[in-house]
Amino acid sequence: MLRLSAPDQGVLFVVSGPSGVGKSTLLRHVFARVPGLAFSVSATTREPRPGEKDGVEYHFVDAATYDSMVARGELLEHARVYQHGYGTPRAPVEAALRAGRSMVLDIDTQGAAQVRVSYPAAVGVFILPPVVGALEDRLRRRGTDSEEVIARRVRQADLQLSGASDYDYLVLNDEISVASALLEGIFLAELCRRGRRQSWLNLVTRGAVRAVRDPTGT
Ligand code: ADP
Ligand code: 5GP
Repeated sequence: MLRLSAPDQGVLFVVSGPSGVGKSTLLRHVFARVPGLAFSVSATTREPRPGEKDGVEYHFVDAATYDSMVARGELLEHARVYQHGYGTPRAPVEAALRAGRSMVLDIDTQGAAQVRVSYPAAVGVFILPPVVGALEDRLRRRGTDSEEVIARRVRQADLQLSGASDYDYLVLNDEISVASALLEGIFLAELCRRGRRQSWLNLVTRGAVRAVRDPTGT
């Protein structure tokens, strides 16, 4: 994990891409490297995959619970994706940003469009496959979904890809080490935007960085 102080304001990162492109894999890498990020745990009506734990990858909820979360306005955004309901709980995102922490949303393009309306400063990253055919291979090799589910997800890849032009950054996930480095670099660069680091400038102007690093003043 790199050592990096928190920015003046937390960043809302939105990561999207077709199913099987490698979003979860790349985000695991970024979470292990970049400090101060929290993952937004979505609510979903889909069944857990083997190994997924309630409250970790998702809050797995039934349709009635999901509908009442929508009706009560508890979701910051929500959408039907691959025949299931998915939504981002509003409270953890608002609490994190209020406290200056950064949040990462792994959501589809419909949800990202809703987030852009309420949070225009959100930073969008779209993950691209080297070729659309790679998605099917990756989903099959992941071994977590039936052939029917894989076919449905691959059929909808074009729909997700057509939203890519609304994002701030593109990452091509061909070679995983390259894509991980790119995603990490994007996150780090955003955390160092001048508007989010006025406190560094203030410290240097007052000579405080030197004082902190060299308490003897020599
Ligand atoms: P998503 O979260 O976008 O649905 P995953 O992160 O689950 O996708 O990745 C789908 C599968 O593809 C996983 O088995 C993962 O190990 C594999 N994968 C991810 N990136 C690459 C890559 N660059 N090359 C080959 N396989 C990859
Ligand atoms: P999966 O079922 O493979 O975990 O996710 C399927 C798709 O749903 C992915 O594109 C993922 O980004 C998206 N997704 C996950 N959580 C949310 C959410 O809270 N809102 C929206 N709109 N999409 C989500």
